[in-house]
Amino acid sequence: MRFCREEIAGLPPAEWQNVVVATGPLTSPALADAIRGLSGEDALAFFDAIAPIVHRDSINMEIAWFQSRYDKVGPGGTGADYINCPMTREQYDAFVDALIAGEKTDFKEWEENTPYFDGCLPIEVMAARGRETLRHGPMKPVGLTNPRDPTVKAYAIVQLRQDNKLGTLYNMVGFQTKLKHGAQTQVFRTIPGLENAEFARLGGLHRNTFLNSPKLLDPQLRLHAQPRLRFAGQMTGCEGYVESAGVGLLAGLFAAAEATRNEITPPPPTTALGALLGHITGGHIETIDAGPRSFQPMNINFGLFPPLASPPTKKPDGTRLRGNEKTVAKKQAISARALTDLDRWIAETLRVSDAA
Ligand SMILES: Cc1cc2nc3c(=O)[nH]c(=O)nc-3n(C[C@H](O)[C@H](O)[C@H](O)COP(=O)(O)OP(=O)(O)OC[C@H]3O[C@@H](n4cnc5c(N)ncnc54)[C@H](O)[C@@H]3O)c2cc1C
Repeated sequence: MRFCREEIAGLPPAEWQNVVVATGPLTSPALADAIRGLSGEDALAFFDAIAPIVHRDSINMEIAWFQSRYDKVGPGGTGADYINCPMTREQYDAFVDALIAGEKTDFKEWEENTPYFDGCLPIEVMAARGRETLRHGPMKPVGLTNPRDPTVKAYAIVQLRQDNKLGTLYNMVGFQTKLKHGAQTQVFRTIPGLENAEFARLGGLHRNTFLNSPKLLDPQLRLHAQPRLRFAGQMTGCEGYVESAGVGLLAGLFAAAEATRNEITPPPPTTALGALLGHITGGHIETIDAGPRSFQPMNINFGLFPPLASPPTKKPDGTRLRGNEKTVAKKQAISARALTDLDRWIAETLRVSDAA
């Protein structure tokens, strides 16, 4: 075994047949360029503009409604693929003022000259360009009719689009932002229908390097274009220390199994490892109107897990769960299911590797 601390400036040598690339969000340019060339993607490192993601079950559907603009049936869609939140003129004016006044995060020095990806301007920058800019951009109210009162035209409409196959997470369309997290929660909860919104992820802007993994990686994290290269960590489109280490663990297990000619079953989607792997390699929805890079880095969150077949409705003493108790009990049940399924998977994986 040899341990070298050095930059891999370009693709790893051809004789390396089972490689794990885990070079993170600041992958050095020579390697990033080589991977970009191999993957055929236009962009690999760029300024991320991330829009907030909301838990579907925290959206008030007494106010919001499902409809696509002009009821247009998009690829893989039904014509009712968006959740719409309507605003009156007063609500819109107050919202624009709050966006402009909201506290923003500063650019780091090395970020200052990085362009916005695909012209993805932060929402507060658009708002500052003119009072009507958002109404003619991501908040335009045309082609949508509130089924509760079709005669009243909304002054502006916020749209949310399904973000995962399970339909548990919704992305606020065009709402990438540099507002501080506290300000985002406060301002976005003023949107009618989102007054109790729970955010799976808040918006942000930062420089990042990651693959369009649902398209480029196979279920074992190998690059379709060159399967000897396997990816791990934030490069794959997860985000955070634990998530990066988790995907690293899986990549290591897959690589070791391949080296010893063993089969390894991926962890079940009911576990955090399996849910994250599933999201990276296939669970994310790739919509054409969102552009080819709608896939964004994701932390682990309860929205990535398959819903429970029968969510708990009662406490252990038989009394009914109320309000927030239901959410807590649901999360506890999802966690318990995950631990049971993970134990089973570990036992099975150890059995296979012991037998080899
Ligand atoms: C300021 C900041 C604060 C953060 N805070 C948190 C937090 O509180 N909690 C949290 O969960 N996450 C946080 N994160 C995110 C977290 O750091 C990342 O998600 C995680 O470190 C990614 O792990 P990784 O192993 O994929 O990449 P990295 O940790 O970036 O490791 C990749 C390594 O590869 C090296 N490398 C790059 N190119 C090459 C090359 N060509 N050849 C050889 N080596 C190369 C890099 O130098 C680096 O050492 C933070 C990130 C930043 C920038």
